[in-house]
Amino acid sequence: MRVLKFGGSSLANAERFKRAAEIIVGNRQQGQLAVVLSAPAGITNELEAVIAATSQGEDGQQQLTRITHIFQSLLDDLSAEFSNFDAAPLQAMLEKELAGLREVLQGVRLLRQCPDNIAASVLATGERLSVNWMKALLQVKQQQVDILVPQQLLLSNNDSYIEAQVDIEASKARFAAVDYQGLDVLLMPGFTAANVQGETVVLGRNGSDYSAAVLAACLAADCCEIWTDVDGVYNCDPRVVEDARLLRSLSYAEAMELSYFGAKVLHPKTIAPIAQYHIPCLIKSTFNPQGEGTLIGAKDLQENNLPVKAISSLENLTMLTVSGPGMKGMVGMASRIFGAMAQAKVSIALITQSSSEYSISFCIHSADAETAKRALQSEFELELANQLLESIESIDQLAIISLVGDSMRKSKGVAARFFTSLAEVSINIVAIAQGSSERSISAVVTQDKVEEAVGACHQNFFDSMHYIDLFLIGCGGVGGALIDQINEQQSHLKEQHIAIRVCGIANSRQLLTNPKGLELSDWRAQLEATEQNGGFDLPTVQGLLDSHHFINPVIVDCTSNDQVAADYVNYLAAGFHVVTANKKANTASIEYYNQLRLTALKTRRKFMYDTNVGAGLPVIENLQNLLRAGDQLVRFNGILSGSLSFIFGKLDEGMSFSEATGIARDNGFTEPDPREDLNGMDVARKLLILAREAGMELSLEDIEVEMALPPGFDCEGSNEEFMQRLPEADAYFAKLQKDADEQGQVLRYIGSIEDSKCKVSIQAVAAADPLHRVKDGENALAFYSRYYQPIPLVLRGYGAGTAVTAAGVFADVLRTLNWNQEV
Ligand code: ASP
Ligand code: MG
Repeated sequence: MRVLKFGGSSLANAERFKRAAEIIVGNRQQGQLAVVLSAPAGITNELEAVIAATSQGEDGQQQLTRITHIFQSLLDDLSAEFSNFDAAPLQAMLEKELAGLREVLQGVRLLRQCPDNIAASVLATGERLSVNWMKALLQVKQQQVDILVPQQLLLSNNDSYIEAQVDIEASKARFAAVDYQGLDVLLMPGFTAANVQGETVVLGRNGSDYSAAVLAACLAADCCEIWTDVDGVYNCDPRVVEDARLLRSLSYAEAMELSYFGAKVLHPKTIAPIAQYHIPCLIKSTFNPQGEGTLIGAKDLQENNLPVKAISSLENLTMLTVSGPGMKGMVGMASRIFGAMAQAKVSIALITQSSSEYSISFCIHSADAETAKRALQSEFELELANQLLESIESIDQLAIISLVGDSMRKSKGVAARFFTSLAEVSINIVAIAQGSSERSISAVVTQDKVEEAVGACHQNFFDSMHYIDLFLIGCGGVGGALIDQINEQQSHLKEQHIAIRVCGIANSRQLLTNPKGLELSDWRAQLEATEQNGGFDLPTVQGLLDSHHFINPVIVDCTSNDQVAADYVNYLAAGFHVVTANKKANTASIEYYNQLRLTALKTRRKFMYDTNVGAGLPVIENLQNLLRAGDQLVRFNGILSGSLSFIFGKLDEGMSFSEATGIARDNGFTEPDPREDLNGMDVARKLLILAREAGMELSLEDIEVEMALPPGFDCEGSNEEFMQRLPEADAYFAKLQKDADEQGQVLRYIGSIEDSKCKVSIQAVAAADPLHRVKDGENALAFYSRYYQPIPLVLRGYGAGTAVTAAGVFADVLRTLNWNQEV
């Protein structure tokens, strides 16, 4: 014998009823069935509402009409479809039940209250009708069906009419007398039982699952199948995490912990009988009868052996803290606190006590908060008045995030990874608790961060995708190349479990967004088609962040804009990582420079700018590594500009300065206006960034800059006028070149740091110098340090160009992921 249970949504209309009936008939082929039904969706709510309405003196007509309508449409639709559907007795039954209801409710209306025993019999109406409708439908399908009357079989053993519990052993004895020989299907209304007096009681809202579990225990069923409208139990809420996984199996204990901590599995009350009587319980979807569903039972079907089985969250909690000098060493405090809660019928979700015994904190459902506070106030009236206790502290809008898994006990590092995950998304942990079974570990967090918390834990505990949600500002050369590179790398990254979703692309006029990630193959056309909405703006993007709970949002700045750079602090504070190719922030005031770093530390976000110096060359990262390990920068010499590397390299090949500059400009090596390179400011900025990295608190004004032009050269006028005037500089450079040549030296445009002074200048360097051979647009950086001398550490390679720079930005973007793939 197997027990199948169908919930309200699986019986919501004739279509669903039919589907349920088909599943029943299909399963009958494998053996006799007991089937438990809920009321059709909405009925029990209406019955609750009609009780409330009539208790207040209303006539309850609206609710009754809706109830009638639901059952009547079922009748009409089923008889329209099946000519041999026997509707007449059901019609009569419906009228009789409604008449009965009206009569009882009339009494309630006069009394202005509804005693619980009456409420119970009213609430049970829905399931009673439901089974009769199904019986008629199954008879159409040639099934031998009988209805079990729960009032005659299931005996409740607590005093409640509304939240009744069933005495399984006593009920089991009654089943011995039932003769179900020759029947295909035994139907039983869920939610219903009777007390010793034989009065109808109900088993609490959603109690039909419990009915099914109890019935399975009483019949010693082979299996209890709960048919719902989801495929089974997921490892976390699939509405929050895109790649949430369906669990093949759960142990009873895991299911219990999960449901206790908010997962929509089964009510803990339902799990108790199936666990106690070792009945496997299968959760399946009526929409996907072929699906495997989730099996709750002793056997573990899980293929992998990840320590954490699932993540759940429980929201709308309040934490109360009782603390004070009176607590220490005082025996019986905890018992008084929890005694008071029990008496006030407040259930407790989680408890923690500080080991100093100074305080006890516990979480309750916020709906109970006022009751709980009053109960504590009166329990500790004396202690509070005498300042033995501090006033009771209460924090609202909390949630509990829990990790559940039987194998957590055997593995180390789960808690560490849990808390790191929460820290990664800047979540402050209010309290923690681990069950001594080590089957669950929980953290109390503020409610607004639940989705981030669940998402981050899912990323870190299951070999699932790690998402980077990227917003790009500035999509010209470097930015555009970055998007194209990301698009190209997508499938390769996926193999490493990384997914970059480009959620926003902006230029100075337009902002194109899609929180689920833009389609990148034609992003240029999409951006083109976007309205002129003023480009990037923090409030819009912040709005997306708030509503979509991104775990790893990254702002990428590929502009050279001062204003964008001035906003980094706000981006970091808003929860973004910042990756930039723009040098403006790192060369702004030293106050802003420091503020940026402090904000990044505080918000645990990353600020990455490796392309600021040497473009794609890994300069900053290597320098930081050296310095972190205790090395010190003694001296630095570098060719930091690709265009000036090209121009000066041409001088020793005999080309004139103006010709070299012209070629560099025409090939796009220089800025469109070459004066921006020749004035030395770009090199000065890079040098300043390096100097600050090495710990020198300097500003741009502290850097001595010699232009890459003869002293006093006239830089006025248009770009073209300047270029025409440029041959006037040739003689100057020819002279310098000749002098250098005679010494076996070459001219280079060099940024240098020495004795805490930074200088950008034209220098003649000897053959032995590492910069001697650097030309053709190459960059080279020579670091003379405590460990690297007299031969310096030299980084050398192309230090400009869209592709290499974009690749450098790309690498920084990937570095924002705080995660290493486990092997
Ligand atoms: N019909 C009852 C309710 O809605 C019982 C159930 O559906 O499980 O609460
Ligand atoms: Mg229900």
